Amino acid sequence: MIRTRFAPSPTGLLHIGGARTALFNWLFAKKNRGQFILRIEDTDQERSRHEYAEMLNEDLTWLGLCSDENPWSGGSYGPYTQSQRFEYYEHYLKILKEKGAIYPCFCTPEQLAEDRRQQLEKSKPPRYEGRCRFLSTEEIGEKIAKGERPCWRFAVPESGFFVLSDLIHGDISFDYAEIGDFVVQRSDNWPTYLFTAALDDALMHITHVIRGDEHIKNAVLQILIQKALGLPSPFFGHVPMIVSMDRQKLSKRTGADAIREFREKGYLPEALIAYLSTLSWAPDSSVNLLDKEEIIMAFSLERIASSSPVHDETHLDHWQSQALRARGPQWLLEEFIKLDSSITAKILAMNLRFLHLLLEDISGACLTVLEVLESSKWLFDSPDLSEVKENLSPEWKPEIIEILRQTQEWEPAILDKTLRSWQKGKKLKGKEFFHPLRLLLSGEEKGPAIPLEMAALGRSETLRRLERA
Ligand code: GLU
Repeated sequence: MIRTRFAPSPTGLLHIGGARTALFNWLFAKKNRGQFILRIEDTDQERSRHEYAEMLNEDLTWLGLCSDENPWSGGSYGPYTQSQRFEYYEHYLKILKEKGAIYPCFCTPEQLAEDRRQQLEKSKPPRYEGRCRFLSTEEIGEKIAKGERPCWRFAVPESGFFVLSDLIHGDISFDYAEIGDFVVQRSDNWPTYLFTAALDDALMHITHVIRGDEHIKNAVLQILIQKALGLPSPFFGHVPMIVSMDRQKLSKRTGADAIREFREKGYLPEALIAYLSTLSWAPDSSVNLLDKEEIIMAFSLERIASSSPVHDETHLDHWQSQALRARGPQWLLEEFIKLDSSITAKILAMNLRFLHLLLEDISGACLTVLEVLESSKWLFDSPDLSEVKENLSPEWKPEIIEILRQTQEWEPAILDKTLRSWQKGKKLKGKEFFHPLRLLLSGEEKGPAIPLEMAALGRSETLRRLERA
């Protein structure tokens, strides 16, 4: 059984990058009839907040990326919040200690900073040089007796190469000589992310880890930990980091990127999913990305590119307008009613078929429900014409009102023909006739076709508006 996971640290809101990682894990699990797990990695106690964990879960759920196991619904391998898993960490750290796979390190922050300075001077990559790796039992005993509290480091093989078979980048070779012994338990006893994630992936039977490529090197360290414990390692696939239009790391400064912000602005989850799925992954153009089932069917890790995709909000907007159209006019009306229940009665008085056509027309130029509502306000409330300079009681008005009253079929094509032939017969210019007519109906300078507006408003409301001014 394929099992993937999304393992955010609850230190902020779910953003574009995290959501894309979650999506790819979710898609890969669904495609393979597997399971998708949400694990909260809150071992950084200073920066983690319970509220962020809640919000991450809410935002994922809103996107439709529901997990099969998570801190709220539980599962067979819980708990799914790392701060509740200390007994596991202690148990397995003890095993590593007994095996001699990790050793206590008493180096002070000052010593480590000095090492780093010297390495930099010699243009060497910074890494722990192993000062404490070969301390004798007596030396360790003395230091502890003096009250020194060690952190624990993993003893990385001293020479040789490690080849990571990455599902996206292919084989990558790492020279052990360049990997320093890394910390698995801090001097305050807290285990580090490298250890907790490696252990939990194994204990939770995760088969595939798909995550950002800033973690590539961590995969090597995590596989070393799993091997030392005799536990299985998952496959790893590292997806390239998303960058801003100016090729910077995404941040508040480079543009909005919190899913919650897009949601509050009125973006639809399927628009975000469609957009996110195109960040690195290139499906066939025949795939309808607004349909999650189609994305699942088409998804494959082989088609993920290893170059960084650019976060371009115009592309997101493209998907948003497609998604809004796809939701359709009836859904828009239901959303309107949620925003303003007094609209219900007004909708009932209109011709629903033509109202739908009109809303399709209006929503084509809008991005959100609120924008459509704003652009169709005149439908539900007669426009305020007090500021209009134009003469709204032209001579022809009583005559056209009479003609409209007698028009048999109140539908756009007939109304169009009636208005046009009457205008022609009267030799009225468009500006003299259609412009004031539109103002009387909607108070707007521009808009959908007038016959469609009239058809949607219905005969009595149309006549009422014409007679009014
Ligand atoms: N908690 C880590 C993060 O948010 C997870 C990394 C991983 O997927 O292993 O970056």
